[in-house]
Amino acid sequence: MIIILFGPPGAGKGTQAERLVDKHNLMQLSTGDMLRDAIARGSDLGIKAKAIMDKGELVSDGIIISMISEKIQGNKGRGFIFDGFPRNLEQAKALDVMLEKLSLSLDLVIEIVVKDDVLINRIEKRVRESQHARSDDNEEVLKNRLNVYHQSTEKIKPYYVAQKKLVKIDGIRSIEQVSNEIEGYIVDIVKQ
Ligand code: ADP
Repeated sequence: MIIILFGPPGAGKGTQAERLVDKHNLMQLSTGDMLRDAIARGSDLGIKAKAIMDKGELVSDGIIISMISEKIQGNKGRGFIFDGFPRNLEQAKALDVMLEKLSLSLDLVIEIVVKDDVLINRIEKRVRESQHARSDDNEEVLKNRLNVYHQSTEKIKPYYVAQKKLVKIDGIRSIEQVSNEIEGYIVDIVKQ
């Protein structure tokens, strides 16, 4: 099973991805987490990526696509859940090419829909309550992350609508309710 969790920053993709990993033995591929790992290791890639992430801009497609490609090729036979990837049309197309080469294909793209004002409130709360706030979790950078989401990432949607793979879920509900609705779609894939 290969699924994309799609949605703006703060929509709850990471939380839902973790649940799916536990329940369906999927491998979570979060490009944000991979980049934060690279920063923590102090690698060249991490140093380059940090400056871009701290502004809320997108890291170059080349870096992202090769990170993902390495993971997919190194874990043949696994199911995947993508979280934070793809973030623009180039990445979406590159993913399809990568999967096709391995005779794989995407099953479903789940969009978690949350309005901007709710996202801003959620992230402000996350910053207030966390002792280790992410360096890109502040009001100014968040606004840019949302901007980038609307300018680039959301533009992928018609691509997946054309493939009849996009489903929408209302993300302004409890973690449990969102998770149950996602489960409903997953059950359909498992049955196929
Ligand atoms: P969020 O979705 O909460 O903003 P992520 O952890 O997914 O956070 O991403 C954090 C930052 O990492 C992004 O703002 C961007 O700079 C970089 N990043 C993550 N995934 C990608 C990607 N697929 N393409 C380009 N940049 C990415």
